[in-house]
Amino acid sequence: MDKIPPHVELMRRLQIADYEPASDSGHLRYYPKGRLIKSLLEEFVTLKCIEYGAMEVETPIMFDRSHPTLRRYLERFPARQYILKGDKREFFLRFAACFGQFLIAHDSVITYRNLPVRLYELTRYSFRKEQRGELVGLRRLRAFTMPDMHTIVKDMEQAKEEFFRQYKLAVEVLREIGLEPEDYEVAIRVTRDFYEENKEFVHSLVDILKKPILVEMWDQRFFYFVLKFEFNFVDALDKASALSTVQIDVENAERYDISYVDENGEKKRPIILHCSASGAIERCIYALLEKAHMQAEKGILPMLPVWLSPTQVRVIPVSERYLDKAIEIAEELRRRKIRVDVDDRDETLAKKIREAGREWIPYVAVVGEEEVRGGFLTVTIRAESTLKEQKRVRMSVDELAERIRRECEGKPFKPLPLPMLLSQRPSFR
Ligand SMILES: [Zn+2]
Repeated sequence: MDKIPPHVELMRRLQIADYEPASDSGHLRYYPKGRLIKSLLEEFVTLKCIEYGAMEVETPIMFDRSHPTLRRYLERFPARQYILKGDKREFFLRFAACFGQFLIAHDSVITYRNLPVRLYELTRYSFRKEQRGELVGLRRLRAFTMPDMHTIVKDMEQAKEEFFRQYKLAVEVLREIGLEPEDYEVAIRVTRDFYEENKEFVHSLVDILKKPILVEMWDQRFFYFVLKFEFNFVDALDKASALSTVQIDVENAERYDISYVDENGEKKRPIILHCSASGAIERCIYALLEKAHMQAEKGILPMLPVWLSPTQVRVIPVSERYLDKAIEIAEELRRRKIRVDVDDRDETLAKKIREAGREWIPYVAVVGEEEVRGGFLTVTIRAESTLKEQKRVRMSVDELAERIRRECEGKPFKPLPLPMLLSQRPSFR
């Protein structure tokens, strides 16, 4: 039996997600904290792709198996699918957003002036019937959320330009999520022909991150692409899984009969790029949890980035006498768009502080006599604390709010997904 990956224990203990035994394997349930983290990531990656120039669309989650184009596609690239029986037809659940977007592109009028045309969808979900033995936690699922962008370009020159920019986009998106280049390995897969003709271009990709990358060369093109990169996260058990990827597809414009009108009014075949700027959203959460675990092994206090932390500030009154004051402070922080809660339970102060630590809460503010009289908060800053020494700082409510605002700049915000008072919360395990 394989070891349980650290992120599986963490997703349960932090009440993020768990297996759903009443569903098929590889379909999870998300608790309020998990739903929050997931939806913040979903919104963030979507905004980054729209900012990049994509047009968001929505396509069906199931398609007709006997549709002529799709049937040819499925024969060429068999994937493990879920099959549904409809009235008289059979449907398959999508395993990517490619076909939905290609079908839109097929029916669209596109001219050279429009290119590049970028279509984007965040699929919730894409389905892949992975083998049961391969399924694990948030790493490999049968239903996953995928930011999926397809870029239609006029020729290989434009394809290379886009590929280069999307490579950089992926680096930036992962970095803002909390995954640095040292957290993943870069792999490039390329056909020999493409490499021979574009050596300089392939090498220019190596220069971006200034670290060694794996280049795999194929004598023949097995798939639809001539060039692809992958960022592979390596976890605590030394398993690698792909996050971001971009591919240059030279086959599907033909298969789906996608064309554009060139300067002379003639119909031309474009090239298409497939891009997932972050990889599956579930896999980003997996990577963040595994990373936090690996940091804890090195003696660093584990935490999530502040913008993704379900509770950003916990206010703890030293005794019941200070509860009203604690709530007042929390209300003020909440008005400033900070996810804040109050530990109003009938427990010792030491236990409350310990539990805030076990929940990885970035800022823990204690309120007692001294604080009320002095008009400040005593805040423990997790990012600056160690196992041995807690970093405690006196701060005003304003200073704390301003610090968090700066840390979360440019990121989406959603309110606390649970009651503010801890005593009012159910426990999800
Ligand atoms: Zn695709």
